[in-house]
Amino acid sequence: MPSPSPKPASKKSSDYCIATLGSHSALQILKGARDEGMRNLVICKKGSEHPYKSYDVADEIITISDWADWNEALEAELIKRNAIIIPHGSFIAYMGHERVQKMKAMYYGTKEILQWESDRRMERQWLEKANILLPRVFEQPEDIDRAAIVKFHGASGGFGYFIAKNAEQFHEVKNRKYPEQNDFVIQEYIVGVPLYAHYFQSQITGELEIMSFDKRYESNADSIGRIKAEDQLAANIHTSYTIVGNIPVVVRESLLPEFFAMGERVVQVSKELDMGPTSSASGGLRGASKGLFGPFCLECIVTRKLQIFVFEISARIVAGTNPFIEGSPYTALKYKEPMSTGRRIAREIKHAIEQGKLSEVLG
Ligand code: AMP
Ligand code: AMP
Repeated sequence: MPSPSPKPASKKSSDYCIATLGSHSALQILKGARDEGMRNLVICKKGSEHPYKSYDVADEIITISDWADWNEALEAELIKRNAIIIPHGSFIAYMGHERVQKMKAMYYGTKEILQWESDRRMERQWLEKANILLPRVFEQPEDIDRAAIVKFHGASGGFGYFIAKNAEQFHEVKNRKYPEQNDFVIQEYIVGVPLYAHYFQSQITGELEIMSFDKRYESNADSIGRIKAEDQLAANIHTSYTIVGNIPVVVRESLLPEFFAMGERVVQVSKELDMGPTSSASGGLRGASKGLFGPFCLECIVTRKLQIFVFEISARIVAGTNPFIEGSPYTALKYKEPMSTGRRIAREIKHAIEQGKLSEVLG
């Protein structure tokens, strides 16, 4: 039986339900929905329900044995509950882009953006047009003229990334360790500190907000410095970037104007590049697509000269916002109540529903 199509018609937020998958940033998404007086539900893979029960953040827990069991029947259940799915990093990782595109249940955000951020060339075109500083890309190893990071596609946790400062070094490591792998990108290695900027672009107010910043705690990149360089070599230790947790950061205040300007340019260009369907508020004008909205993150490296390079964009809530369930120093300035990114999403959806603009925030 084909799934029924959702009908975002009611103007009562209690007629809807915020839904997400049990991992990544689900705790704050669920709590955020509660705080805004909305129903919520979480879909958990069997065995991962405990935190959602223990912290008592979910009105309903639906358990499935495997992500592969996500099917039309489950979607029909979501549609029956008028559920709005909030995508996060684990959701995209488990579902895959194709399945997400085909989903019929209500989905918060612009689905078309998935293609722009997952295709490195398209992502680069977007960020270059937005005048964002990007690490140089070396098309071939012979072009390497400074320290470069070699990233293999699908390298889980950045395992197997390596650094080379010329073609000779590149071929030496590649032939010795990865002779079979030919799907890689060679990027200029930016020496500086990694910094993840968390934004929220509102479709309702039109305002871009900076919610918070984090840095990641990665294994074993964040522990290698505890061993002398010569011992690292002797023990044949390789750098990997497996994410283990996130650490809050407050940035030097004079960097904030640039961070705001970068976010605004990225949003503006997403509309110019016609990402997503035309916004109904635009009267059907060209260049008035919905573009990028809701939470997104610019993944940056800041150099000693305070240049801000972006090595990736994430067009949804990132788990680096998790330390801020009670709000961040930035949201404390803007809001009277503790405002997490999860809660900000629920508030946006609530306002959209009440103003009859729900379709504006759905993809
Ligand atoms: P998980 O559900 O924890 O297995 O994560 C699935 C994917 O989401 C990972 O491969 C990461 O890319 C991303 N992810 C999960 N947790 C975090 C985190 N705390 N910070 C950054 N990325 C994360
Ligand atoms: P990624 O798999 O793209 O998320 O990258 C994993 C880690 O590699 C990040 O946490 C960054 O610290 C680091 N990294 C990625 N690209 C660069 C770059 N171009 N320059 C310096 N460090 C980078």
